[in-house]
Amino acid sequence: MAKKSSLKIAVLVIGLISLAGCQMLSNNPTAAIAAVDANPVDARLGQKQLPAIQDEMILAGWNNLHSMQEPIQVGDGVLLSGQTLAQFLVESQIPVVWDSEGLCGGSSCSRQFCTLDGDCSFEDGQPGTDPIYLNDAIRVQSSGAMERLARELGHEAFHRMQFFGAGKITQIEEYWAFYLDTQLVKADYPGFDGVDPQDPERLAGWFTKHNMMSYLRLDPYPGVKNLVAQVEQGVVAAESIPIK
Ligand SMILES: [Zn+2]
Repeated sequence: MAKKSSLKIAVLVIGLISLAGCQMLSNNPTAAIAAVDANPVDARLGQKQLPAIQDEMILAGWNNLHSMQEPIQVGDGVLLSGQTLAQFLVESQIPVVWDSEGLCGGSSCSRQFCTLDGDCSFEDGQPGTDPIYLNDAIRVQSSGAMERLARELGHEAFHRMQFFGAGKITQIEEYWAFYLDTQLVKADYPGFDGVDPQDPERLAGWFTKHNMMSYLRLDPYPGVKNLVAQVEQGVVAAESIPIK
């Protein structure tokens, strides 16, 4: 007999920071390290509300994220800050661990599980909240590790908020996740000037420009199928793609 109907059929590794991300994250380590000195875990949260983080270095990265209070506008005008994202990780008690088994293929990620009808969650059905996995390479990074930790942690926390609903991750969600993590640490790459992410061609063009081609396989928006991917899979005939 089959068990309950909650059988999860697909596993999608999400939340990739590309290899280009490694290069762009290595500058300006001094500001980030200075910010870690504040310890909001002890000072503000007390013992009741600690993040589900065991590793000292990741905890320092979480503290760095928590220290970032400047509001950043994402999507339709919602304001998020590093502190908001760090606090979300506390309230949701999402564990954050190193990706020591290489689940994320050299990036940071969460695992997303989707049913056949397109409902997705970050839970594998086993007891306990599934973690955010952080790129193991950050542990041995010679400089800029605290900044990169805060940045990737903020990016992955944003995914876990399911800001765009409980469907499979989309290009628009990734776009805003990258926008958010870039603004958090005031990085100048990748750039976002002049991009209208509501235009599917420009949205796809942004990933192409920054050599993030793997993201083009994602649907562009919630409820909008990626026709190119469907054609590649033989689901839709090529003639149905509008060509401009
Ligand atoms: Zn992402």
